[in-house]
Amino acid sequence: MSGINERSALSIAQRQFDATADAIGLDDSLRAVLREVKRELVVHFPVEMDDGSFRVFTGFRVQHNIARGPAKGGLRYHPAMTLDDARALAMYMTWKTAVADVPFGGAKGGVVCDPKALTITELERLTRRFTTEISLIVGPDRDIPAPDLGTGPQVMAWIMDTLSMHAGFSVPASVTGKPQSIGGSEGRFTGPGRGLTMVTVLAMRDAAMDPSGARVAIQGFGKVGGVCAELMTAEGMNVVAVSDSSCGLYRPEGLDLTALRHLKEEGGHFTDYGGAEQIDREQLLTLDVDVLVPAALEAQVTERNADRIRATVIAEGANAPLTTEADAMLNERGVLILPDILANAGGVVVSYFEWVQDIQAYFWGSGEVTSRLREVMTRSYQQVRGEAQSHDVTLRNAAFRIAVTKVAEATKVRGIYP
Ligand code: NAD
Repeated sequence: MSGINERSALSIAQRQFDATADAIGLDDSLRAVLREVKRELVVHFPVEMDDGSFRVFTGFRVQHNIARGPAKGGLRYHPAMTLDDARALAMYMTWKTAVADVPFGGAKGGVVCDPKALTITELERLTRRFTTEISLIVGPDRDIPAPDLGTGPQVMAWIMDTLSMHAGFSVPASVTGKPQSIGGSEGRFTGPGRGLTMVTVLAMRDAAMDPSGARVAIQGFGKVGGVCAELMTAEGMNVVAVSDSSCGLYRPEGLDLTALRHLKEEGGHFTDYGGAEQIDREQLLTLDVDVLVPAALEAQVTERNADRIRATVIAEGANAPLTTEADAMLNERGVLILPDILANAGGVVVSYFEWVQDIQAYFWGSGEVTSRLREVMTRSYQQVRGEAQSHDVTLRNAAFRIAVTKVAEATKVRGIYP
């Protein structure tokens, strides 16, 4: 394969794209445009540590396609972050915004760092300097960052403030996922978990499965997994297992999610918790449950553990949590897989609502946000299901068909400049 890493995140994303392009008969020129990212910026920048020393960090911002609107996508702070990941995730964002039909393109970025190993003041300096470095290509009409792994409302607030200081006035629409006190939206924090719960309930009912009482295991207890645990419980589902980066917790009668949320708010790890059986992180994935929600990292279900998965539904909270091989093995066994570009789109949908509210300087109540989110998630799910039925393909293939067709159409109708 001479230098090409077939297992890289980008090559997996490109293979998925190629298969879709073949299936919909996409012409060669559009195929060549859409299988590459449009723009990528790599920055190496110094940050002063609290002890007075300097460390140089590396960060990225990648824009895959902006034919349908400004680029949109999260910023990840993680020690294993790579440019290749950013490229692949930017491409997924293009497809995700198209499936949800929000007028954005796709982007992703981040900094190679362990945010837990930095003090709050170091994290602020890192964020402000990184923002300055990528300010060349981000902004409310160009590319709007949002939270992802290792980032949250505080980081978004520093980014918004830095961009605003450069502009000389407040630019709230420059990032989403901000605190509400500076133009964040009601329901943004819960958006990804809420959208995921909505799609899971819709799909289970369609498949004649009763969500009420269904046993759920969730990998990851952050912004997606933690919220999803609470909202699935509110739907009558029984969350029996969750995990974080330290370990898994299992309690067949259902977990005390309030206690776990408090533990997390106080900075604790699941290994500190005594109210449930502690299990290996990997073991969570293969528990005897009805619904598995991988909501932590990419490539968690692979050909090594796919045959041991016992869930009948997999709702992808994380981006690309299943490898291509695992996806094929699970489809073969009839597992109902709710694909990331549909299932976790609630985050970018409420981000879109936040951006619209910031531009209009007119803010909606939480009921309005939730009902508009339900409308978008239901419409998106029904379109994907309809496409899957009419072409006899999986929900993932259907979602990709819809997304690539929309983005190809927008790219084609705009034409290639000059
Ligand atoms: P987060 O940082 O808030 O939470 C991540 C969680 O995963 C934490 O609880 C962490 O302890 C846990 N974790 C890390 N490694 C683990 C491991 N090996 N095993 C088990 N748990 C582990 O991040 P998040 O925003 O919830 O994002 C999670 C995933 O969802 C990512 O793939 C992200 O790209 C995707 N996503 C996020 C959003 C969003 O708006 N936040 C939207 C769509 C998709």
